[in-house]
Amino acid sequence: MLADCHVHLDSYSTVDIAGILRRAHEAGVGLLISAGTTLDSSARSSDLASQFSPIFAGVGIHPMDVSQSMDEDTYYQLKSLAEANKKVVVISEIGLDFIEGAPDRAIQYQSFREQIRLARELKLPIIFHTRDAHEETLRLLKEEQAYQVGGAMHYFQADAATASKCLDMGFYISLAKPLLRLPHLQEVVAQLPLDCLLLETDSYSQPFKEKRKNWTEPSHVRLVAEKLAELKGITLDEVEEATTNNLLSLLATRVEVVRAYTSLGK
Ligand SMILES: [Zn+2]
Repeated sequence: MLADCHVHLDSYSTVDIAGILRRAHEAGVGLLISAGTTLDSSARSSDLASQFSPIFAGVGIHPMDVSQSMDEDTYYQLKSLAEANKKVVVISEIGLDFIEGAPDRAIQYQSFREQIRLARELKLPIIFHTRDAHEETLRLLKEEQAYQVGGAMHYFQADAATASKCLDMGFYISLAKPLLRLPHLQEVVAQLPLDCLLLETDSYSQPFKEKRKNWTEPSHVRLVAEKLAELKGITLDEVEEATTNNLLSLLATRVEVVRAYTSLGK
């Protein structure tokens, strides 16, 4: 069974989600972690996890969605969401984003630090975002001792040096569809150990794409897995087994819940 460790299912209608799950199932993808980006989206991700067996959730405030420093109220709302549903298995999506026009950096730092603290308090791993901010992201992860709960750098597109810093701290590297098209990424990934890799799609609803069939969806994890198999010269089965086991290791504190709601328990 393949797993998509990072999607935004809350951005789709409930009707759409049924089709997405069916196509995912047909592609062998039986576990999906829907990450929150705001309080509302975290709550909806948790609701979806309650409704659909293969869906698990992350709660968190995305760096592009921080508008103010994280106050106590927001911290406790995220905490209650996580505590209220055992299918909340990660703190996500959190991180840093230094793209032009991104929110104030001081606010991003504070929000990221607080949410790492939350992850440690709840003993949940983090799945983090970093764009144009790798050095600073890794510095904060170290300073806040995020390695105690573990995590994954999601939508990895960086270089070998960044990958090895990530691995040195015990974090996983999550690969998405850029692996299908970026030669430099393919070169880096071919050299990475299989036991540090996860798969994802980062799917979200894409109404700006005229044809529905062109939207990225969780079923596309299979394409990423096939590319990884090709780059490593191994079988798809081996990729499937390794990446899903890696995810189970990351989710160690919730592994019984994951097994109970997926075919992994059988
Ligand atoms: Zn995302």
